[in-house]
Amino acid sequence: VLEVQDLSKSFNVSAGSGGSRKLKALDGISLSVGKGETLGLVGESGCGKSTLARTLMMLETPDSGTVRFDGQDPFALKGKELLAWRRRVQMVFQDPFASLNARMTAGAIISEPFATHKDLYRGTAARTKRLNELLDLVGLRTTDAHKTPQEFSGGQRQRIGIARALALDPDLVILDEPVSALDLSVQAQVLNLLNELQQQLGVSYIFISHDLSVVRHVTDRVAVMYLGRIIESGVTEDVFDRPLHPYTAALMSASP
Ligand code: ATP
Ligand code: MG
Repeated sequence: VLEVQDLSKSFNVSAGSGGSRKLKALDGISLSVGKGETLGLVGESGCGKSTLARTLMMLETPDSGTVRFDGQDPFALKGKELLAWRRRVQMVFQDPFASLNARMTAGAIISEPFATHKDLYRGTAARTKRLNELLDLVGLRTTDAHKTPQEFSGGQRQRIGIARALALDPDLVILDEPVSALDLSVQAQVLNLLNELQQQLGVSYIFISHDLSVVRHVTDRVAVMYLGRIIESGVTEDVFDRPLHPYTAALMSASP
């Protein structure tokens, strides 16, 4: 589905005394994600995981390198083609409500993507039908659509975030710390849901997490990032059991 070659991105950061310097947030990233596959992305805080995610969402423009999505370069698209492409990659954040209006209902949050892709679900009836489909898909009730964020538990809120990400039937969902804010038992429920949805919909995931035991459990392959580079990648079991890079070994031994 996704093929990334030699992707780089620098930010200008202040270096004191009014000067600035370049910070290489992404430094020659290459990776691929197959259909229905889960790629894990691990590495310490600040290594560039979210910057990579934002670049794949086209929220950042890379300085160099290529992104191919089913062979297509999303950065070369314009107008309607670009809009059509945008629905294909979606993101789930740690807490979908943290950045949203507390007075918005769950239904409004899940339905929001319909407004920017008007041609997909035309009219109120089609949208309501799709909304109910999505609520059912993530294990919520139709009546939950009318509730506001504070009426839900953390796990239910994350189900709403997942429903919203799936609203336009994407090919790739980037999950940035999707269960980190949840209790352990609720984490397991949400991870099971993500797994079921993948089996059912054939969607691909990029799974970003600090929790290596979760990454080991849910990913097919894993890429280890350090200072904007991927220093090691491979089948999850191999990377965990036989790390080739000393940094990977140190990262593994530092986590319980
Ligand atoms: P965490 O695990 O804490 O979420 P991360 O791996 O997601 O970390 P990024 O958020 O991708 O890390 O940040 C990578 C580097 O780029 C950091 O040094 C960060 O300070 C820097 N950075 C990210 N966004 C910007 C920006 N808009 N302007 C300047 N620097 C930025
Ligand atoms: Mg991050």
